[in-house]
Amino acid sequence: MLLQAEREQVVEYGKAMIERGLTVGTFGNLSVYNEKENLFAISPSGMDYFKTEPADVVVMTPDGEKVDGDRKPSSEVDMHRIFYQKRPGIRSVVHTHSRFATTLACLGLGIPPLHYLIAYAGREVPCTPYVQFGTYELAQCALDTMGESYACLLGNHGLLACGGNISYTMDVAEQIEFCAELCYRARAVGEPKLLKDDEIGVVLESFKSYRQK
Ligand code: 13P
Ligand code: ZN
Repeated sequence: MLLQAEREQVVEYGKAMIERGLTVGTFGNLSVYNEKENLFAISPSGMDYFKTEPADVVVMTPDGEKVDGDRKPSSEVDMHRIFYQKRPGIRSVVHTHSRFATTLACLGLGIPPLHYLIAYAGREVPCTPYVQFGTYELAQCALDTMGESYACLLGNHGLLACGGNISYTMDVAEQIEFCAELCYRARAVGEPKLLKDDEIGVVLESFKSYRQK
């Protein structure tokens, strides 16, 4: 089987999406890119994450050609492959329907810098307009809205995160969901006090040396 290790990561982190409360049912999807092979492994469409085996994961080229696997790939395959085509260094994409991020997306609101962990994604998390799921138009809109950062909300839909590996990309999705929850809760009481651009800049810098080497 092509991309065995990446297929196993898609299975493992798909289950983690549910366990970490990041999506609901079979919704959401994830992929892992192998730069050397120029191929990526993506979750199958509409399959229970706990019933998905490595053989159910689909292997595709960034041009959208299926090269291995019997299943139908995620309906959002364009929203994954566009990042491998256009953003050097991106090796994983995670799409979730996590509750607080999706609540803000249904209000058409992005997440402002109200907590320093927004820096997992960048300086803020913008929200796209509503675009029909599973379309190239949504893929292009997400790419444009995200710019150089690592997450955006998809209007009336959910959250999209990307990163250099699947473990980090899942952390982005989880921390941005945390920021979305804080935003929702803070606004239920008042108007959150936002961090200044230079304060976020310092956090972005300190994240470079945060954690273990
Ligand atoms: P798939 O099951 O086809 O990946 O679609 C789920 C989804 O979240 C669509 O936006
Ligand atoms: Zn979705």
